[in-house]
Amino acid sequence: MKQILVRSNRCLGCKTCELACTIAHSAGKDIFSAFLGGDKAVSRVQVETNAERSINLPVQCRHCREPKCVNACMTGAMHLDDQTGLVLNREEKCVGCWMCVMVCPYGAIVPSEEQKVAIKCDQCLSEGHEPACVKACPTKAIMFMEISAFDKVVKQEFLSKFIMGEEA
Ligand code: SF4
Ligand code: SF4
Repeated sequence: MKQILVRSNRCLGCKTCELACTIAHSAGKDIFSAFLGGDKAVSRVQVETNAERSINLPVQCRHCREPKCVNACMTGAMHLDDQTGLVLNREEKCVGCWMCVMVCPYGAIVPSEEQKVAIKCDQCLSEGHEPACVKACPTKAIMFMEISAFDKVVKQEFLSKFIMGEEA
């Protein structure tokens, strides 16, 4: 199963991924609809920055194999989807109690006070499963691939940088 994986050393903190995610989840799929339309689209990825340590990290749902949010959800809204293996929220069943928000170890679920639903990454399933954040990232800090392939990319980067003395 492909996952959204992050190379934080490449993240500039530019928040292009947040913008792309917000647009992808707006009614009209454009910037006007996302920010001026009535639906108030919300980004499912949040870029966290630690300026002192010069670290930027895009944070979104990790689609855990044993999801605490699913166990905590009393209405059955939050669920592990059999077909895709993704943790998804049936928003029509969500009552906005924020139990999932409280138990998520990554702080990856966004409580929408306005819509009274928990909002989270769906890996852009409705976009043909091509994550908007991945497509938009100018530095390829966010990648969409199998973990085994990601492991090879990271190893290659390490070898280029520290053994061959080259930037990957
Ligand atoms: S678009 Fe890429 S570089 Fe910019 S904040 Fe998001 S992950 Fe970082
Ligand atoms: S995969 Fe889609 S829903 Fe998930 S953070 Fe990226 S843009 Fe947002």
